[in-house]
Amino acid sequence: MPREPRYDILFEPVSVGPHTARNRFYQVPHCNGMGWLHPTSMAVMRGIKAEGGWAVVSTEECDIHPTAEAPHNRVMRLWDDKDMPALERMVDLVHAHRSLAAIELVHAGYQSANYASREIPLAPSGRPAFGYHPVQARTMDKEDITELRRWHRAAALRAQSAGFDIVYVYASHDLGLPLHFLSRRHNRRHDGYGGSLANRARLLRELIEDTKDAVGDTCAVAVRLSIDGLTDPDGVPSQEEARDLFALLGDLPDLWDITRTTFADDMTPSRFYGEGSQEEHVRFIKEMTSRPVVGVGRFTSPDAMVSQIRRGLIDFIGAARPSIADPFLPRKIEEGRVDAIRECIGCNMCLASDEHAAPMRCTQNPTAGEEWRSGWHPERIAARTTDDRILVVGAGPAGLEAARALGQRGYEVVVAEAAREPGGRVSRESRLPGLAEWARVRDYRVGQISTMPNVELYLESDLAADDVREAECSLVALATGAAWRRDGMGRNHDRPIAGCDAAHVLTPDDIMDGATTRSSVIVYDDDHYYMGSALAEQLALDGRAVTLVTPAPLVSAWTEATAEQHHIQARLIALGVTIVSLHLLHSVRDGLVELACFYSGKLTSLECGSVVLVTSRSPNEKLYRGLVENGDLLSDAGIRRIARIGDCYGPGTIAAAVHGGHRFARELGSEATEGILPHRELPELAELGPQFAG
Ligand code: ADP
Ligand code: SF4
Repeated sequence: MPREPRYDILFEPVSVGPHTARNRFYQVPHCNGMGWLHPTSMAVMRGIKAEGGWAVVSTEECDIHPTAEAPHNRVMRLWDDKDMPALERMVDLVHAHRSLAAIELVHAGYQSANYASREIPLAPSGRPAFGYHPVQARTMDKEDITELRRWHRAAALRAQSAGFDIVYVYASHDLGLPLHFLSRRHNRRHDGYGGSLANRARLLRELIEDTKDAVGDTCAVAVRLSIDGLTDPDGVPSQEEARDLFALLGDLPDLWDITRTTFADDMTPSRFYGEGSQEEHVRFIKEMTSRPVVGVGRFTSPDAMVSQIRRGLIDFIGAARPSIADPFLPRKIEEGRVDAIRECIGCNMCLASDEHAAPMRCTQNPTAGEEWRSGWHPERIAARTTDDRILVVGAGPAGLEAARALGQRGYEVVVAEAAREPGGRVSRESRLPGLAEWARVRDYRVGQISTMPNVELYLESDLAADDVREAECSLVALATGAAWRRDGMGRNHDRPIAGCDAAHVLTPDDIMDGATTRSSVIVYDDDHYYMGSALAEQLALDGRAVTLVTPAPLVSAWTEATAEQHHIQARLIALGVTIVSLHLLHSVRDGLVELACFYSGKLTSLECGSVVLVTSRSPNEKLYRGLVENGDLLSDAGIRRIARIGDCYGPGTIAAAVHGGHRFARELGSEATEGILPHRELPELAELGPQFAG
């Protein structure tokens, strides 16, 4: 299908320094948990984005020197020549698809504790390193600044030799040393690098000039800048200073890539930000520079993209997460297949993987992080190898993804869903405050299945074991999900909590099914992801007096990894939810709960109406048990295999359920050996020195 003419503007070429990008789709730098430990995974993942139509494909942060190891010690490096082959591999794969390769050179300054390199971190003015690390960054003197410029120049030259087309100077995310110099909060110097804006911008200017001088004949020089990083000592962003900065440096680099300072704001979780939410921060920039401007905003709608370009806000559609959720997004627009876009849901599971130093995974795209290690391509999948007719029971994220991918392979698939609507937990949870975009997990898959004549979806079909045996299918995938526990067992409770069998004790399933509560409610969160806080928010919005009790120090503690925690706790406070942290639920009585201090065990009591237990989930395995207990009947019915996928196999995240469904479909009939990856990156063993000889 030809593309809609109104999207033509997205496919115009744009000049960047000595190069031309073939369209306006720009995969901005993004962390991925692969880095120097998984360089082939990183390279192949980037190459697939070029194949998917991104005209520019960037690395993540690339450390230039051991005095600043990015947090988690897990990004690319360009310390010396030994780091070049890994990056050359990426450049080759990006160039193979006519895209430009960009590299983001980073010195993270005080945002590095340097546990591995043991170097003392650097800062414009000495201060503690980030977080609670017992490390302090030292004040850089003139020699340090000279050294930094030398390291940056050397890295730029190596990047040029590796074949990169765009070389970044990074002043972003409170992670870039030039931004620390720019910031009045961080820079308390009295020399030529402190005080006036021109002085504070001196290092950024020098790094841009050095980079242009070193590689500007063949590479474009880009700057990534957090526009709200120019905050005053009270933390108030100064747009006036931002304008002044552009008056000083506006046309010096070849491209500006604009972000926000904190990851909580830049990684715009959909629970708190909509598409294109950074517009107000980039609005004035094109007035201040003749250079192309890249802006992000979790863009997945081509109309929203066109609007930003037509209104003269940006030149390039910058994307990290939309390019992870759908590496083929540009090609789908170009080929008139907008309905096939797998839209990012803004859940930030991708970021969480990086936070946990693991190759990234994505809720929407189960092939993310599997491109090389498992050989999974986001768009291609092997054709079926047998004539099996497959029954999938349950149309939650696991069942829908299994059916979609099996259908893509050409299998005949029947999906039976007990409920009136497909989507399982995603349909229910997306009705909680702020989670509406999560319904895209369902919508993408239902949309794809609806185009497949070989996949049938039956709603209101609650199957029992006899129904399964009579379905005339040779393979069965059970995706029957999981239910929240009623007894309070969970992370901090190895035994049922006393009193939980009372009628006023409810589960998240009850609330999502519309159960009414009394006027005051205690939400007990021993799950620590989104459910406890989302229910507290929902109940507060419904006018209940809500107290959230958690054994953790923070509300929804795990969401620190998804850059949501700060927003979540702030929102609950704003809604008047009482937060009782570091307390365990000891027992429940009518009108009262007893709480135990997490440290001392000291008991206190709290009046309450209803109690909602958000602790853990049990797999819905009744159907599975009913089937396997009568194994003879299965073979009589011609059923060769029963598999469990998603939450009914192991309750977990939506991302895990989608991945489980995809894996079942992908590996069916293949020689994949469970649990063993086809590809592993193994460290190169150093040559043994004499001290190791016999
Ligand atoms: P997952 O995250 O693993 O996909 P969900 O809980 O989201 O799990 O979805 C499970 C789906 O399975 C639900 O929509 C539920 O209604 C459906 N289901 C559970 N048991 C049966 C059954 N016996 N027959 C048909 N559908 C079922
Ligand atoms: Fe988007 Fe979530 Fe995938 Fe990240 S993990 S790219 S936020 S859908």
